[in-house]
Amino acid sequence: MVSRVIPVEPFDLVIFGGTGDLARRKILPGLFRRFCAGQMPAGARIIGAARGDIGQQGYQDMIRGAINEFGAPSAESLVHLDAFIAQLHYVAIDICGDGGWGELAKLIRKDLVNAYYFSVAPSLFGDIAARLNSWDIATPEARIVVEKPFGRDLQSAKALNKVLSQQFDESQIYRIDHYLGKETVQNLMAVRFGNLLFEPLWNAQYIDHIQITVAETVGVGGRGAYYDKSGAMRDMVQNHLMQLLCLIAMEPPSHFDPDAVRDEKLKVIRSLAPVAAHHVVRGQYDATATTASYRTDAENPRSFTESYVAIKAHIENWRWAGVPFYLRTGKKLKARTSEIAIVFKKLPHSIFEKSADEKQNVLAIQLQPNEGMTLDVTIKEPGPGGMRLVHVPLDMTFADALGDHSEDTPDAYERLIMDVIRGDQTLFMRGDEVEAAWKWTDPIIEAWEARNDVPKLYDVGSAGPEDAMALIHRDGRRWREVK
Ligand code: NAP
Repeated sequence: MVSRVIPVEPFDLVIFGGTGDLARRKILPGLFRRFCAGQMPAGARIIGAARGDIGQQGYQDMIRGAINEFGAPSAESLVHLDAFIAQLHYVAIDICGDGGWGELAKLIRKDLVNAYYFSVAPSLFGDIAARLNSWDIATPEARIVVEKPFGRDLQSAKALNKVLSQQFDESQIYRIDHYLGKETVQNLMAVRFGNLLFEPLWNAQYIDHIQITVAETVGVGGRGAYYDKSGAMRDMVQNHLMQLLCLIAMEPPSHFDPDAVRDEKLKVIRSLAPVAAHHVVRGQYDATATTASYRTDAENPRSFTESYVAIKAHIENWRWAGVPFYLRTGKKLKARTSEIAIVFKKLPHSIFEKSADEKQNVLAIQLQPNEGMTLDVTIKEPGPGGMRLVHVPLDMTFADALGDHSEDTPDAYERLIMDVIRGDQTLFMRGDEVEAAWKWTDPIIEAWEARNDVPKLYDVGSAGPEDAMALIHRDGRRWREVK
């Protein structure tokens, strides 16, 4: 199959925080890959903006180094590096002052697509938005990209939305959740809504339960101070896990267009039942003989912040009545894996001797480390010996049919940035969606705070705390193995 990379229109993309960790590790290496794939046109420019007085040459050298360090460029792609670097510009700017804004205003070509990536702390969003307007830089068509975390509760998310909406229309605001940029997440929508096969089964009549797992092997690393004020609920559940839940649970939108998709996601969030205290387990990783505890990593010996959460959630609507959604995420677990598992009900009756009805069909959607899908089905074991049944995974990664496009398949950030340039908001969160998600998670967090809840300890390298196992065992079900 021939790769279909469609170049976007020429653009000026300004990255506020262009020298920061996210810009160096993700955004610019990602843009370089799009450049190599032929998607970024020759007339496009990327303008890094930060306070450092490093000059254009200094910035270009910094990004050259970052691409080599974090972009894992192939030998063939390095041929394009000089041409890409030539498209980089730099403006020393103080977001909270006047320095640099005049220069930026002169540099921007307003007749092209303009995008402004706010890759800085959320406390600076309001200043950037206000100055883009007071310096008459942003056009009514300009797009702004904002990073997570989008607030730390409903109140702060509302305040951020208000600050941005004073300067920009919702149609200009792109709130990134990079999980939505993953190939398999989009494939989930293609599988659900592009085939007749799955949708008739996609409901409480045929689905027993759903598991969403985002397991990490890393701890809090150098982000301890930030993470300790956040925790797994704010850092992972409120955004990534809830977005995945929405895509699985939403009704088919009337069209694959941004507002139709986001309207359906919003309905799911609004249908989530409040979570009972005994349906939530929070954990914190403990020290072993060779590894430090969460409290040591976070440099807070009295921390009650959770590095793990498991939740049993329910969606109160006709499609999902009575179907539990088990969500879990944690750090320093056994393996790094992100998976959605749709576990179908048992057979109502087995015609075979050995109870085939005990095995359930499972559609497993793997997001990382490798993206793919498998469908566990029961078949006859080949060969003589009567009707012996085996349960095997049917690989649905379609690599044979589609060929290996791993080289030109964009990673989540690349795809989302190109969507910004194209003006496609489908894979970005709308303001009301973010607020609704906080509205659901806030009471859970408030309840912990009110009773000074102490997280359950779990071993580094385990699958999480014992109580999380009990949460699902009580229902006669098991978590899928973290592997
Ligand atoms: P960072 O490494 O601390 O970088 C911050 C950037 O902002 C630097 O370029 C800094 O440069 C610039 N900056 C700070 N204050 C400024 C000011 N007053 N005026 C102009 N520039 C200023 O942060 P980061 O890790 O890249 O994160 C950026 C945003 O992305 C944050 O909201 C973070 O939560 C979010 N995020 C990051 C990651 C990640 O993997 N890093 C992942 C998800 C979300 P100067 O100091 O030279 O001005």
